[in-house]
Amino acid sequence: MKFSMQEFGPEYFETLNQSWDLYCEPIYYNQTAHRKAAIFIPKKVGKPLREVTDIGMWVSGGIDSAMTTYLLCKMIKDNNLPVTFHPFSSRRGRPWNPMYAMDVTDFIREELDLSYQQMAEHVVYYPDESLGSDYIEIDIFAEKDTLHFKENIVQIMYSGVTANPPIDDKTISRNKERTRDDEEIKKLFWESETRSFINCFSNTNKKIMKTLYDKFNLIDNLFPITRSCEGSDYETGNYTYPCEKCWWCEERNWAFGRYG
Ligand SMILES: [Zn+2]
Repeated sequence: MKFSMQEFGPEYFETLNQSWDLYCEPIYYNQTAHRKAAIFIPKKVGKPLREVTDIGMWVSGGIDSAMTTYLLCKMIKDNNLPVTFHPFSSRRGRPWNPMYAMDVTDFIREELDLSYQQMAEHVVYYPDESLGSDYIEIDIFAEKDTLHFKENIVQIMYSGVTANPPIDDKTISRNKERTRDDEEIKKLFWESETRSFINCFSNTNKKIMKTLYDKFNLIDNLFPITRSCEGSDYETGNYTYPCEKCWWCEERNWAFGRYG
């Protein structure tokens, strides 16, 4: 099974290799003609080519990382792949992160009946808060990625991050995170000699997630245990319900028609 670049176009890829032998049929989702997502697991990455046996992802407890975890684990399970999925979380300024993220992976393990060979133990990092907010919010992820690649704990890190809503959509206000804007095509696959990243949904927005939660009957069980809200403790009953005011709540309601 070879990955067909014709499905996308070279602008979606920044890699050393021009074609990849895959473990099984890739899964494509088209949001529009130009907005496509892909789930795929190459057999080898890097240069020299290294065998892919372990893949990982930062699981935040949000909608996107939960669905991407589900799809990758389902792919491993359904095809009996010799690949282990490693969920990672970090306790950031958002103290609920690991809490919700663990609920998400516990649910997926049970729902798909995954062994620890298929989904490894969920690893949670607790960065020292005295190292400052840049470290806790950004640097720790890069630092741990470097470590995970170096020690060959994973050969690929996946991400489920979606793009912002279309800028001409007047039904939702604009998010300040410009890096998620959907104006230009973003790479799905980054590959250097030592590290590889696959960003499955970076060219599609949250509405594709609604389609997928519906498709896999996860709207009444997985969706409610995910969390998008960035409201403060006093706005959210100590992170037990959404504030319904922050932009992330707005986006959740925009895509799913509900907050919780
Ligand atoms: Zn909120």
